[in-house]
Amino acid sequence: MMKIKGLSKLTLLDYPGKVACIAFLGGCDFRCPYCHNMEIVLDSVPEDYIDEDYFFDFLKKRSNMLEGVCVTGGEPLMSGDITEFLSRIKGLGYLVKLDTNGSYPERLKELVANSLIDYVALDIKNSPKKYVKTAFCTPLQFQKVEESLAFLLEGKVDYELRTTVAKPLHTVSDLEEIGRWIQGAKRYYIQNFAYREGVPDRTLTSVGMDELQMMLQAVKKYLQTAELRGV
Ligand code: SF4
Repeated sequence: MMKIKGLSKLTLLDYPGKVACIAFLGGCDFRCPYCHNMEIVLDSVPEDYIDEDYFFDFLKKRSNMLEGVCVTGGEPLMSGDITEFLSRIKGLGYLVKLDTNGSYPERLKELVANSLIDYVALDIKNSPKKYVKTAFCTPLQFQKVEESLAFLLEGKVDYELRTTVAKPLHTVSDLEEIGRWIQGAKRYYIQNFAYREGVPDRTLTSVGMDELQMMLQAVKKYLQTAELRGV
């Protein structure tokens, strides 16, 4: 059974240029201190899922109004039955955007090879040096992120990279390191952290506008296409 923890029935922002809905899948292998979706990450109420039949009925009914489905989490690629889930969505004629933390490159490559994903949004949690500490992941998981990144840079599927910056996790020089690391990327966005109830680290704060601009300029040394988003 697919662990659909939530459904946002309409978004004009999440899938660039498309009218879409969002499906939130439970579970995540990272523990980012600024995560906005901890209830979905921890998946602590196991029976608390949206019925799959309800979800697919919804998609059938909205097929003349919605163009895409954003599949997010948590980490959607953790779900063993993700291939079947995306096949069913694609079978109804929808475009699929996948949000991922990058820790399942093999699944990502396979789903792209099978034309089950149209757009990927990969999180870049921090500079390589600070990655493990920022995402509370293992060095091996970080290697997997590098593999996912290298795959996206090949350009076999449309994609964006994005970093949510929070103080004191990210500095201007971290962003410069990120720029150096991801140079050649098609799209890259810097998003500002906003505190919300349930965020694991309550001491984190958003970054001031001056510093955000400095971060952007630092990335732009390597990546002219970098932009601030939602600020
Ligand atoms: S990878 Fe995403 S969903 Fe998982 S803990 Fe980090 S921010 Fe939350």
